[in-house]
Amino acid sequence: MFKPRTLHFGPAGIPLSLKKRSTVEGIKKVRELGLNAMELEFVRSINISENKAPEVKKVSKEYGVLLTCHGQYYINLNSKDEAKVQASVERILKAAKIAYLSGAWSLTFHAAYYMNDEPQVVYERIKNHLKHIVKELEDQGIEIWIRPETTGKPTQFGTLQELIKLSQEVEYVLPTIDFAHLHAREGGGYNSYEEFVDVLAKLEEGLGRLVLNNMHIHVSGIEYGPKGETRHVNLKESDFNYKDLLKALRDFKVKGVIICESPNLEEDAMLLKHTYLRLRSTKRR
Ligand SMILES: [Zn+2]
Repeated sequence: MFKPRTLHFGPAGIPLSLKKRSTVEGIKKVRELGLNAMELEFVRSINISENKAPEVKKVSKEYGVLLTCHGQYYINLNSKDEAKVQASVERILKAAKIAYLSGAWSLTFHAAYYMNDEPQVVYERIKNHLKHIVKELEDQGIEIWIRPETTGKPTQFGTLQELIKLSQEVEYVLPTIDFAHLHAREGGGYNSYEEFVDVLAKLEEGLGRLVLNNMHIHVSGIEYGPKGETRHVNLKESDFNYKDLLKALRDFKVKGVIICESPNLEEDAMLLKHTYLRLRSTKRR
């Protein structure tokens, strides 16, 4: 598995400023903007064919752009309908395969809804499905991190604690930490330097340096209400304290990828990167 040496920054998908909408052109544009990561958005469907994938991989290597992938929204490993659970497993397997063939390093997705079940019961179900998924991928020789994401609504499976435990118990599983989701899910919490440090310390305590050296992070501006996230907005239109988050990431020497999911995609990705680089030059710890 690829070991990142720095923190990479990039947009969730093909940059908006690109007229010619293709993954390959998107990678080149990311590089031109001074960024070095991009998330392949399979959220509605897998939009790269098995034939095209090797070219995506080749171009990403050539341009030094680290790829991650966001799996389909239609995933619920805790559906009451067994056929939907099976379809969810198949979607994750297919997304992982195409992402891997495209050179992606990490696959994130929203694992499930609680559906009013006991969180402990849901946890066990998801754990079993993920064990099956990673076994299947291993048998096929597919090497990619499998990453359930911290989700933005209390009805969705995916608290920090659940994901740390899952990562301890299932090989090749690590969490994607969506800091905007944590913030929205807790109705405005997780927004100070101390709280960000607390998240990183918990990760390190539960999963060691491995997780901090291989982080897959989502950041965006966000609006929220009593039921958690309502919509993504640009960083400067939101109360999300990205500057202190970046400080905490610097102080913990976090490596990996920050994917920006603000509506303006690459603009906020560049804002994050430039802010981070300025902080780096005024090191404290
Ligand atoms: Zn997501």
